[in-house]
Amino acid sequence: MGLFTNEKFRWIVESGWKGRCPRCGKGKMFDGWLKLADKCESCGLDYSFANADDGPAFFALCITAFPLTFVAVWVQVAYDPPWWVHMLTSVPILGVGCLATLRPFKGWLVASQYVNKAVEAGTEGLWAKLNARDAGDQPEG
Ligand SMILES: [Zn+2]
Repeated sequence: MGLFTNEKFRWIVESGWKGRCPRCGKGKMFDGWLKLADKCESCGLDYSFANADDGPAFFALCITAFPLTFVAVWVQVAYDPPWWVHMLTSVPILGVGCLATLRPFKGWLVASQYVNKAVEAGTEGLWAKLNARDAGDQPEG
């Protein structure tokens, strides 16, 4: 059962991080930087099941902002730079950091929602496919 959970987790992280469809792993999950596509271009999976809106995004923002704010404070204490140095360093780093984190985080949430729903619905097809993928890596005879 531990292996099963690992496999499930790996699939969620993999498809979420790459922004791939959580069903087929081929189609793109996003239509733009943070906007979810209506459906998978590859297998036609309808993404309307996903409910990853402002709340999780804000959560990701906090997770990202906290260590970055810590760095900004450290720079302030260590170097005591004028305020505009932060405008050139901390602010863009915070902005880029948040944007870069939001997408994989949202993808991860959407993928985990899909996988959990698939498990709830008793869909064994996905797991059969995942196992087949791994079994396929092993050499024959
Ligand atoms: Zn797909």
